[in-house]
Amino acid sequence: MSQFIATALGSLVILGAASARASDADSATVTAIHCGHLIDTQAGKLLGETTVLIRGKRIESVESGRQAPPGSTEIDLPNETCLPGLTDSHTHLTDQTSRTAYVDQYHWNIADYAVRSTVYARRTLLAGFTTVRNVGDVANESVALRNAINAGILEGPRIFTAGIPIGSTGGHADRTNGYRSDLAGDPGVVQGMINSADDAVKAVRLHYKNGDDLIKIMPSGGVLDESSSGDNPQLTLDEIRAIVTTAHDYGFTVAAHAHGAEAIRRAVIGGVDSIEHGTFLNDEDMKLMKEHGTWYVPTIIAGDFVSTKAKVPGYYPPQVAAKAAAIGPLILGTAGRAYKAGVKIAFGTDAAVYPHGQNAHEFELMVQAGMPPMFVLQAATTHAAQLLKHDKDLGSLSAGKLADVIAVPGNPLDDISLMKRVSFVMKDGVVYKRGGNALIFEEQVNAPAPASPADDF
Ligand SMILES: [Zn+2]
Repeated sequence: MSQFIATALGSLVILGAASARASDADSATVTAIHCGHLIDTQAGKLLGETTVLIRGKRIESVESGRQAPPGSTEIDLPNETCLPGLTDSHTHLTDQTSRTAYVDQYHWNIADYAVRSTVYARRTLLAGFTTVRNVGDVANESVALRNAINAGILEGPRIFTAGIPIGSTGGHADRTNGYRSDLAGDPGVVQGMINSADDAVKAVRLHYKNGDDLIKIMPSGGVLDESSSGDNPQLTLDEIRAIVTTAHDYGFTVAAHAHGAEAIRRAVIGGVDSIEHGTFLNDEDMKLMKEHGTWYVPTIIAGDFVSTKAKVPGYYPPQVAAKAAAIGPLILGTAGRAYKAGVKIAFGTDAAVYPHGQNAHEFELMVQAGMPPMFVLQAATTHAAQLLKHDKDLGSLSAGKLADVIAVPGNPLDDISLMKRVSFVMKDGVVYKRGGNALIFEEQVNAPAPASPADDF
């Protein structure tokens, strides 16, 4: 039941169940989580029986064996392995693939995307992802989603959002590609379309004004927009430099969607913090990324999903299906080569391109690409926290960090598919999931196709 609280301004705020639970994580509450095993992502070690002591929102200490201070609340996970809450560095929580997604753009208002995003956010949290970067929305609706979650009104991961992606006219970020001309119009800087270094500076400053947390740019073509190339360069080096310089003035990191080798080269030289997808990364790009300390976020699952759906007649428009079939299958090989070359890798999936909640399948694909299980778990914890520049608070189970704890039933280093069976989720010291529904994920994965109204008739 909701309760009403009068604010200082005299208006009414409605508090739901989620906020009542969030307020439980105050500094008086001490919780002892008894883990059968625990993965120390900082040291890269599997530990035996371990207790994580939590006071309020933060981890107070991590002790070997079974400890419980008097008066603490105890949570027993004897057959489980505890890990830090996972971070997906590449999500789009306000959108999701479906057979009707392209037509929906003509019918849906921003509110339609926003309402659905509340379900996707909860699904993502319950899959063990306590933090995400949201790297592109329609019209800043992810800012409202983030704020509602932070206020305790909705259940979802901690969101760092890029708001509207920045690209050039007709490029991957131009949502009107494929529209007939009178509907397409000429989107400008407010919609993220830049065509000069001056536009670039203004676009970044608009993101600051809109309350975003980072910047997402589209220096190369992409798969799912209705233009012809998935990999051509679409921003000049001057435009990229203007974005990065301005973004860093405001403390924003810059994530660059890029498939083509030339676009990747420009983005790295221009100073971006991460390359997303990176399908046609060549040896020169990898060398440059290592020199510049640029992160790579592979999103193998997105490539895998679109190449499968490209074979389903009518799922994508023809132009998109052709690009998906050509680009999708290549990312797994690229990710394996980048790992061998020693490029820094952070976990990210492009959630929305495939159904939300299935993020952990990426772990299986990373292992298939040749990465060791401990490395892929670090990619989603310590590495992702470094990319976010929030490694003081996130990425490992250690004293002083935020109490984001998950558990899986068994040892994921022996069987990485266990990451799809997260049985316990705590975020900021509040428990959101405990046993019982580990199979929900399997049901989602095995479901024939994402539900959409058109499928019912
Ligand atoms: Zn994306």
